[in-house]
Amino acid sequence: MTDSNDLVLPEGINYECTGCGKCCGGWAIPMTQDDYERISEVDWGEKNDKFKNQNLFRELKDYEMANTPYSYAIKPGADNRCPFLVDNLCFIHSLNGPKFKPSICQLFPYSFNKTPTGTYATISFVSMGAINNSGKALLDQRDYLESKLGEFKQLYPDHEPNWSSITLATGVSLTWDEYMLLDEQLIGCMSDASKTFEDRFIAGSDLLIDEFNKKRERLGVKGNVSPALNWQDKQLIKALRKIYFPVKPLGKGEGDFNFYKFLAQVVLNGAFPVNIDLPGHAYSIEKLSKIPFPQEDPDISSLIYRYFFSRLFGKHYFGAGFGQLSVITGFHHLAILYALIKLQSKASSLQRGSATVSYLDVAAAVRQLEKRLGETSLDGMAAATFELLMFSPNRMRRILAFS
Ligand code: SF4
Repeated sequence: MTDSNDLVLPEGINYECTGCGKCCGGWAIPMTQDDYERISEVDWGEKNDKFKNQNLFRELKDYEMANTPYSYAIKPGADNRCPFLVDNLCFIHSLNGPKFKPSICQLFPYSFNKTPTGTYATISFVSMGAINNSGKALLDQRDYLESKLGEFKQLYPDHEPNWSSITLATGVSLTWDEYMLLDEQLIGCMSDASKTFEDRFIAGSDLLIDEFNKKRERLGVKGNVSPALNWQDKQLIKALRKIYFPVKPLGKGEGDFNFYKFLAQVVLNGAFPVNIDLPGHAYSIEKLSKIPFPQEDPDISSLIYRYFFSRLFGKHYFGAGFGQLSVITGFHHLAILYALIKLQSKASSLQRGSATVSYLDVAAAVRQLEKRLGETSLDGMAAATFELLMFSPNRMRRILAFS
């Protein structure tokens, strides 16, 4: 019998830092008050000329601080990377050791999710070590991960997710034990290497809808699904892409799904074509849908599998793990994210001048998506809109088939 404090580790996920320095860019590194006092006390300009007369830190704004343990941030340099990254190594770490770094850097890329059956450990796929499955299996790093869990608890003492009111669908409750039976089967669907990922998601969706029908005996979702996207499907792809794969840096509130903006977008643009934008380029989703996605490439398949397995294993897609979504909507959202990864990877390959999607195209799409998922918040209205738009297994199938 597992206790909610027992650490549960995923199979088949490896990790070690590859020292590439890529995790140290693209975001303002947040710091707790203690981090700030410890690090800002040092005269960094005396240690390295690059820091002379530099204003390295800033106070977080109220909305950035809300519900976090952080109050300051390291300002990114002109290259949008952390200024303490010197010759691809952390200068703070090199000079003062790992314990002197900001708490978030000490913990990254590990994350933990406390549930009634244990605390599930996963890693962030923003890290290239996670993308490439580098190093030892997490299963063989239990002692180290126990120490990281201790650090996580110190940093987030209020991490007590409430799993008492999870739902299979809006208004259809699920006990944790019922969920865990489904969880095992969903992971089984995702692990079935004899199927394409599209079919694995469809098998998972079928399983959940069967469970829903048993509980409600009313939803008729099977039958032939028209492969053509309707205008709502298209606008949903557009709205999700805007928050998960932004072309320009996002301002306050722009990175979250906004119900009213979505409505306005549907009303104003419903009939217009939908493009996937990359800096300097725009590709129609119809054009992208015709480009093949390499289903047989073992490295791409391994990455896609590990990424979605990790989300399922860590319970980072429904309930207290993601926006309080129902299990069905949370799972369909994952399937649509897979479709977005495909479209984004195809657009990247075209931008490179090739119609063949490479491992690097997919890795970049997964990293960007993972980063944005960590930054996005789903408020009650946005979550309700997700339920409305993504509960439909037919929509999920159409988008999967189209991508
Ligand atoms: S403080 Fe060090 S580890 Fe943290 S982001 Fe900057 S360079 Fe990377």
